[in-house]
Amino acid sequence: MDWGNGMIKDQDFIKNPNVPGPTKEEIRCIIMCKSDVSKTSVVVDIGCGTGGLTVEFAKRAETVYAVDMNPMAIKTTIENIQKHDVDTNVEVIEGDGLHVLDELENIDILMIGGSKGKLSKIIKKGYEKLNKGGKILVTSILLETATEAISTFKNLSITPDVVNVAISKGKVTKTGTMITANNPITIISIQKPLN
Ligand code: SAH
Repeated sequence: MDWGNGMIKDQDFIKNPNVPGPTKEEIRCIIMCKSDVSKTSVVVDIGCGTGGLTVEFAKRAETVYAVDMNPMAIKTTIENIQKHDVDTNVEVIEGDGLHVLDELENIDILMIGGSKGKLSKIIKKGYEKLNKGGKILVTSILLETATEAISTFKNLSITPDVVNVAISKGKVTKTGTMITANNPITIISIQKPLN
């Protein structure tokens, strides 16, 4: 049976208490959609963390480069790509995304889920390396990260798409369905013009 294109459940990722993620299911869903990922895409996931987005991209793309500066994140991402059978098209790279970008070419999608004070440099370098028509997506939980991304894209003369997502989920109990809010996330994205 073909199970289609659905997202992996949050609880199906292996977790490490010292590593953030995985990005929650519904947020992963929006990111997959906005990224326009396809079978021929080359994806770079900077700040792969638990590997939540790496695994979802790997199910849909040709190649994913998963980058993180935290060795524990690298270990957790490797565990998750193995668990979800996508280790053949993921290359996991330990290092600072800003420097790892120097070694990568032919990028269709640049996902930035962590940047540690280097967001605008990563965006600028990534934009130069990005294929025409390619996309950059930034997820942020901090207001400052969102505004830095927005102003960096404006300096590149591109108007970003900015979406703030606040997901609430229902927990069904005997007395009723309790709705609990997850923290809001801002997704800032652009597409590099085709000409
Ligand atoms: N999207 C991930 C969670 C990302 S958490 C998931 O779904 O599982 C953010 C990660 O960014 C952290 O693991 C942190 O170590 C990493 N990070 C922060 N700055 C970085 C940088 N400059 N280069 C590489 N990784 C970075």
